[in-house]
Parts: sequence; C-alpha cells; structure tokens
Amino acid sequence: MGGWLGCCCCSRHLAGAGTGAPARLPGRTQGGQAASQPQAAHRHLEKSPGSAILCNNCGKACKGEVLRVQKKYFHIKCFVCKACGRDLAEGGFFVRQGDYICTLDYQRLYGTRCFSCDQFIEGEVVSALGKTYHPHCFVCVVCR
Ligand SMILES: [Zn+2]
Ligand SMILES: [Zn+2]
Ligand SMILES: [Zn+2]
Repeated sequence: MGGWLGCCCCSRHLAGAGTGAPARLPGRTQGGQAASQPQAAHRHLEKSPGSAILCNNCGKACKGEVLRVQKKYFHIKCFVCKACGRDLAEGGFFVRQGDYICTLDYQRLYGTRCFSCDQFIEGEVVSALGKTYHPHCFVCVVCR
C-alpha cells in the first residue's frame, strides 16, 4: 500500500507497516471509529487529506493548526467573535445559541441592564427585588 504511514514530525511508523497488511491507515478521525490516532500522542494533527476535520465555522477542512472547542473544531482564524470578529482564542468567550461571542459583546448583548437608567452594567451590580441597578442608580427616587 502506498499509504502514508509515518508520523509527519517524528516519522515514527504509526501502524503495522512492513507486514504487508494495511493494519490501520491514518485518516479516520471522524465517524466514531479509530480510537487510537496519533494526535493524542504527538499533539499535532495528521496531514492526510482523507481525514479532513471540518471547521465548524467555515465548513472547510482544517489543516495545520486547529482549535478544538468542546467537540468542535475551528481554524484559528475562524474562531472569532460572532459580533465583532475579535480573536476568541486569546480571551474568554461565551456560547450563545451556538454562536461564540467575546466577553465584551456578550455583556453588551445579553448583559445586565440597570433598571433605573437602562444602561448595561459592568462591574458592580446592585440587585434588589429581582431588579438590577448600578450602585449609583440605586438611590431613593424621591430624595436622590
Ligand atoms: Zn474555518
Ligand atoms: Zn466581540
Ligand atoms: Zn444605572
């Protein structure tokens, strides 16, 4: 078999090469089978074209550096904030209905609003009776 049987970085043989029997060709990372694949041991991905891992964002095959988030894969450049396009690999992120959003945008979009002034609250929050306020907004409406 003219298959690619060596690890691309250490050129170690991956499967029973040399016996004439194609024991296990690299390249079946999808589909639930093949538990023993080299990236666990070597921390890099195979470069076999048959084993394309699809980017969850653009749908294209991931080559080279790939980000794994939960059970999904992304190109590094594809793992960006849905709202502002900022690189999410750097900072934190939130998942909202399948969309990945940076912390700032998440706050902006889904964050807590002050019940008094209707602005978003960053930092300190005062909550009372199920409502939230800026600390400086939580004052007596009569005497201020
Ligand atoms: Zn992508
Ligand atoms: Zn953002
Ligand atoms: Zn306020």
